[in-house]
Amino acid sequence: MSNPIHHVTAIAGHAQRNYDFYTKVLGQRFVKRTVNFDDPGTYHFYFGDEAGQPGTIMTFFPFEGVGQGRVGIGETQETMYRVPRQALGFWTHRFIEKGVTHEALEQRFGETVLPFRDPDGMRLALVGIDGIESEEAYATADIPADVALRGFHGVNLLLEDGEATAAILTDVFGFEKQGTENTTTRYAVRGAKFGGIVDIHAAGGFLPARQGAGSVHHVAFRAKDDAEQADLVRKLQEKHRIRTTEQKDRDYFRSVYFRSPGGVLFEIATDEPGFAVDEPQETLGEALKLPKGLEQYRSKIENVLPPLVTGNQAAE
Ligand code: ZN
Repeated sequence: MSNPIHHVTAIAGHAQRNYDFYTKVLGQRFVKRTVNFDDPGTYHFYFGDEAGQPGTIMTFFPFEGVGQGRVGIGETQETMYRVPRQALGFWTHRFIEKGVTHEALEQRFGETVLPFRDPDGMRLALVGIDGIESEEAYATADIPADVALRGFHGVNLLLEDGEATAAILTDVFGFEKQGTENTTTRYAVRGAKFGGIVDIHAAGGFLPARQGAGSVHHVAFRAKDDAEQADLVRKLQEKHRIRTTEQKDRDYFRSVYFRSPGGVLFEIATDEPGFAVDEPQETLGEALKLPKGLEQYRSKIENVLPPLVTGNQAAE
């Protein structure tokens, strides 16, 4: 049993700008357009691969006019996507052409990495991986499949002291320590295609994180189903004295949440039932979907949400 990353959820500013960046610049599929179930006046956007497979999903709560976040202790510092190694040239050119803030290529743990930022300043990176060119990928009109993103590589957590959080990863989620470079230690799920990496950057002397636009809100790890999720919850309580929330039905998965010892909010989300539960796979993301209890307020909710111009970006 091992539990790589299911999704990463972050806070954005302007909704349209967020949509345009993830679909048009990064070529991700808009797999779900819904609202924050706990705050239905706010959108909840999901971007991923064609089916929105676990391990490819980046989600956002866009809040118009929200203050800028500040990366700091107790937060996810960077989210890394996988691309074929030979695609890094394509992406460097694309970032220059589209005016995307990015850095020079660097080496980490033997991999070539292209760090960049989204329009809210959130830190992202493309990691060049050998031998994944032939994996299926979601292509768009100007991003062919051979260079397209292929889900998450992993996340980097900035923590004061990484030990207790590392213990959760290795003891509960099935990660293994892979090695240390400078102040970063890599934990990996053996054999995970997507989201199998968590890097812990242990560094004192930083200010605590301040959540806002460009901040990661939480990282979700996968559970196959309710039974596996319940096992993980029990393990957290018995071995680590960590209590999770009760299970919440997020329509596309079922979730429990807990604060990891290092301060990062973690979630355990089930693979079931997935994004095709309330609309066909072919038209994912085209309509505003609301949870059952909110359907009666649809016109009110639609009036409050900012306008969003969407378009099908898929390749012909
Ligand atoms: Zn979540």
